[in-house]
Amino acid sequence: MKLVTKIMIGMIAGILVGLAFTKNPIIAITYIKPVGTLFLNLIKMTIVPLVFSSLIVGASSIGDTKKLGRIGGKTMIFFFATTGIAIVIGLVLANILKPGVGLGLTIANNSTQAVNKAPSLGETLLNIVPSNPLLGLGKGNMLQIIFFALVLGVGATKIGEKGQPFLKFFDSLAEIMYKLTEMIMGLAPYGVFALIVPVIAQNGPDVLLPLMKVILVVYLGFIIHSIVAYSFSVTSFAKISPLSFFKGVSPATVLGFSTSSSAGTLPLTIRIVRKTFGVSDGIASFVLPLGTTINMDGTAIYQGVCAMFIAQAYGINLGIGQQLTILLTALLASIGTAGVPGAGFMMLMMVLSSVGLPLEGAALIAGIDRILDMGRTAVNVTGNAAASIVVAASEGELANPNIASQAAADQDVNV
Ligand code: ASP
Repeated sequence: MKLVTKIMIGMIAGILVGLAFTKNPIIAITYIKPVGTLFLNLIKMTIVPLVFSSLIVGASSIGDTKKLGRIGGKTMIFFFATTGIAIVIGLVLANILKPGVGLGLTIANNSTQAVNKAPSLGETLLNIVPSNPLLGLGKGNMLQIIFFALVLGVGATKIGEKGQPFLKFFDSLAEIMYKLTEMIMGLAPYGVFALIVPVIAQNGPDVLLPLMKVILVVYLGFIIHSIVAYSFSVTSFAKISPLSFFKGVSPATVLGFSTSSSAGTLPLTIRIVRKTFGVSDGIASFVLPLGTTINMDGTAIYQGVCAMFIAQAYGINLGIGQQLTILLTALLASIGTAGVPGAGFMMLMMVLSSVGLPLEGAALIAGIDRILDMGRTAVNVTGNAAASIVVAASEGELANPNIASQAAADQDVNV
């Protein structure tokens, strides 16, 4: 049986068992949730060493800094373009379908006060260069790790022969981490089951039904964006059919959905784009960790829809100028969102305060946030995989697409 089928079975079983526990979620939280946490910790254990070692080797194989800069530029353009499209889709859907109209909420005093201030772009940029790289590694600061690995890889290439033992060591470490990822993924069906049960038990129909309309609009946005942006880009740049793409990437999409963490899914995403689609190691290990940190299309759609939803629920009319502000703030907010559960919700506060919307409106979303988080993480993960494939194709660093399609059809051999 294919891995993705097993994960799906784990997920469906988790949903059914979770439904059985909705009256008594505490049992699911006490006994089943820890197993899911253990599984997530196992994956997380591999992230820093995997990204660090594979990117050192990747940077050395990309070789010159000029090429590295070009790849970085293309990656950023793809990230910004797709995230921009994502927010526009979210805003348009919310304008047409009006999920919040008719809720008739009133604003309490002082509720528009800002509670959440995102770091400025300047601060974020300054922080990319770690004054103490070991601290960056210890804290798992992805941008600092990426920067340090890149300069180490480039430095090691520049010293020629003397750099070889260093590169060999990290090449070996990267291979070990890939192997561990493969082994841990064998446990994914059980891990996913244990992660889903408590979520469903805590978010039964009583919690979800009253806000079903906004949930449906957000998910519609996820589906439209995936079909429009990802099908178009992988077909036109990499000549991979949408079906092969979505099928090949599905284990990562499903894992993202059930863990709500694109960082936690990163090792599997790296593995899939390398093995199933033939993205070169250098590009996979550069684009994916970067994307996991700054490219969040699902989060962007969610922020666009939810901001409009809250405005509509309070009867506040947002003009085109304010919607443009939402677009820009949501773009920055999705960049600042970490790839961990619930991070996008914190950033939603920033989007709300940018146009003076009542922050208490976020309380409406809080109850259903996990369900929205699952979908947006699945989109975030899929978008990053698409980015790595498109950038690799544009650099001639994608294995023959026919091979990729064939491999995608036969993914169990590879994943
Ligand atoms: N959970 C999302 C992710 O890991 C981030 C978010 O909360 O929007 O990709």
